[in-house]
Amino acid sequence: MKAIVIGAGFSGAACARKLAENGFEVTVIEKNTHIGGNAYDEYQCGAYVHRYGPHIFHTEKQKVFEFLSRFTEWFPYEHRVLANLHGTYIPVPFNLESLRKTFPAEKAKKIEAVLKKEYGEGKKVPILQLKENPDADIREFADFVFENVFRFYTQKQWGRKIE
Ligand SMILES: Cc1cc2nc3c(=O)[nH]c(=O)nc-3n(C[C@H](O)[C@H](O)[C@H](O)COP(=O)(O)OP(=O)(O)OC[C@H]3O[C@@H](n4cnc5c(N)ncnc54)[C@H](O)[C@@H]3O)c2cc1C
Repeated sequence: MKAIVIGAGFSGAACARKLAENGFEVTVIEKNTHIGGNAYDEYQCGAYVHRYGPHIFHTEKQKVFEFLSRFTEWFPYEHRVLANLHGTYIPVPFNLESLRKTFPAEKAKKIEAVLKKEYGEGKKVPILQLKENPDADIREFADFVFENVFRFYTQKQWGRKIE
């Protein structure tokens, strides 16, 4: 059987490989002059440089790790991101520690309590869901995160306006 895969980024490359291992004769069509899509890197002056911005690998899935381990060695790396928000360094993605660092103490405490009551401990909540919460404190918090983190990050990372 034959298959055509359009695009040789992570998705296309992984699909093509799996298809080939399952007996398909695969043709990969890539419009760029290189494979790897956004994650492409190239050797420059003794180091690999990500042409489209730095990439780190992370997964919680053992089978993804095992699949990729067939093709690469790993460099252990601990990722700690702090964003400079109007002069204050905060963890991103935005979490309760970021909340405590950006809101006045009493207000932060109140928002933290309503968030935990509404969503529970350690829960990840999509920003658009937060923005629609009927609780005014949660909405104020969501609007702050949306305007100060998501808006700038989207613009910088994807070169697009958040709208
Ligand atoms: C600056 C930046 C930093 C990032 N950092 C991370 C990170 O640290 N960790 C992480 O996991 N993810 C990161 N990402 C996200 C990651 O790059 C993407 O999730 C991943 O590359 C998506 O892979 P993909 O194969 O779906 O798409 P792409 O990588 O976009 O690949 C699509 C491929 O298809 C080709 N193509 C498209 N249309 C056609 C066509 N009509 N004909 C032929 N070929 C076509 C394109 O040329 C491209 O090669 C980052 C992205 C950016 C931009």
